[in-house]
Amino acid sequence: MQNPFKIIATTILMANFATSSVIAASDPVADVTAALHREVMESGTAYENLRELTSLGHRLSGTANAERAVQWAKAKFEAYGFDRVTLQPVEVPHWIRGNHELGSVVSNNQTTSLNLAALGGSAGTSGITAGVIEVQSQSEVSRLGAAVRGKIIFYNRPMDPALANRFAAYSGAVDQRSSGPRTAAGLGAVAVLVRSMTTLDNDDFPHTGMTNFSGGTRIPAAALSTRSANQLSAIIRNDPTAQVHLELSAEVLPPVTSYNVFADYLGESLPSEYVVVGGHLDSWDLGQGAHDDGAGVVQSIEVVRALKALHIRPKRTVRVVLFMAEENGASGAREYAKQASLNNEKHVAALESDEGGFAPIGFSGAFGSMRSRIDLWQAYLNPVGPMIFRNGEAGTDVDPLASLGAICYGLNPDSTHYFDYHHAANDRFEAVDKTELHRGASAMAIMTYLFANEY
Ligand SMILES: [Zn+2]
Repeated sequence: MQNPFKIIATTILMANFATSSVIAASDPVADVTAALHREVMESGTAYENLRELTSLGHRLSGTANAERAVQWAKAKFEAYGFDRVTLQPVEVPHWIRGNHELGSVVSNNQTTSLNLAALGGSAGTSGITAGVIEVQSQSEVSRLGAAVRGKIIFYNRPMDPALANRFAAYSGAVDQRSSGPRTAAGLGAVAVLVRSMTTLDNDDFPHTGMTNFSGGTRIPAAALSTRSANQLSAIIRNDPTAQVHLELSAEVLPPVTSYNVFADYLGESLPSEYVVVGGHLDSWDLGQGAHDDGAGVVQSIEVVRALKALHIRPKRTVRVVLFMAEENGASGAREYAKQASLNNEKHVAALESDEGGFAPIGFSGAFGSMRSRIDLWQAYLNPVGPMIFRNGEAGTDVDPLASLGAICYGLNPDSTHYFDYHHAANDRFEAVDKTELHRGASAMAIMTYLFANEY
C-alpha cells in the first residue's frame, strides 16, 4: 500500500527532531512516529469516543449497561474498518448495588448521616445497628479477636499523602477494602466500613471497589467518604458507645455470560503475530468510568484509527482488546489469555492503559532483556513529551499474557489526581482533558507501532 504520509514526513521530522541527538535526521522510523503523534493530536477521535461511551452510563459487568458497551465497542470497531472483530464469551460475576443505601451514627441522641457506598461483593442488609470499632489495619482486627463479634469494624487508615506515585499509596491502603471485610467477618463482625481509597482527605464522594470474601461469610461492607470517615472517627472517640445503623440493597446474583471485545488490524507480513493494546470495558457503577477505564478503551481504539488514517500497515497484527470484568475479578483477562494459549497465538507485546486519561509520563513493565532496546526507543516519544521507562507493574488485564512470552507493559499517566475520581460518582466524562487523553493515545500508538513493525 502507498504511504502518502512519507512525502510530508521530512518536514515533520525537521520540526520535531531537530534537537534530538539519538535519532539520525534520516531515520524513517522517526518519520512514522512523528506522523502518528501529529495525526492523534490533530485528528484524534478518542475524546469524542469517550463522550459516546460514557453517555451509556456505568458499565458494571453483568448488567445490561455493560452489554450496551459491548455492542458499542463492536459497532465502533466495524465502523473503523478493522479486519476482524471478535466477541469472546466470558463468565462474569453479577453483583448489583440496588437503589437503597443509608448509613448513620447515633451518639447522645444525635443522628449524623454517613455518606457511603456498598463495596462490590457486599451483602445487603435491611437494617443493622451495632457498636463500632475503629481500626488501622487487619492485624489490629486479628489482635482484637473475640471483641470483634457483633460489632461493625471501621478501617480508617488513610492513603499515604506523601507518596508522589499515588498507586503506591493505593497499594499501601487497599488491603483494608479488598480483604478487610473478610478478616472482620471471620471473627464475627456484622458489617464493615472502610475509609475511601482517595488522597482527598475531606471529600464527600465514597469510592467503591471490590471486596473479596473468598467463599467465607459475606457481610455488608461499604466505603465511607473521607469526610464521613473523619466525622465517624471524631464521634466514636468522644463516645465509644455510639451506634452505627446501616441499610444496603446490594445483592449477589448468579454469574452471567458477557464478552471481551477485540479487533484485529492484520499485519502485512507477520499476521499471526499479535501486538496487543487494550483497556477494560467494564467500570464501577457510581460514575461513568471515564478515567477508569473509558480512557484506556478509547486510547486503544485510537491507536489503530491513527495507523489506518496514515495508511500504515505494520508487519505484525495490532489487536485492540477490551477486557470485561476487570473490576470484579478480572475473569475477562484470564479467559483472553487462556484462549490465546489454547489457540497457540503468538503474543509479542501487550500494552494496557488503565491508570486514567491524565498526561502521560512514561511506561512501566516487565521489559526484561528488552530493556536496552526499549531505552533506545525513548527518543521516538519525544514529540509526546518527557517519557520515562520503568521496570514494574504492567496491568491486571495484560499480566496473564506474560506466560505466553509477551512483553507486558502499561501506560503511566501522572497519578496526582487519579484517586480524586477512582471508583467514585465524579469519574465522569468532564473529568477527562482532551489534550492529556490524546497525548496518552499518541504514546501508545508510537509504542504499538514500534513493537508491531520494528521489534
Ligand atoms: Zn481500571
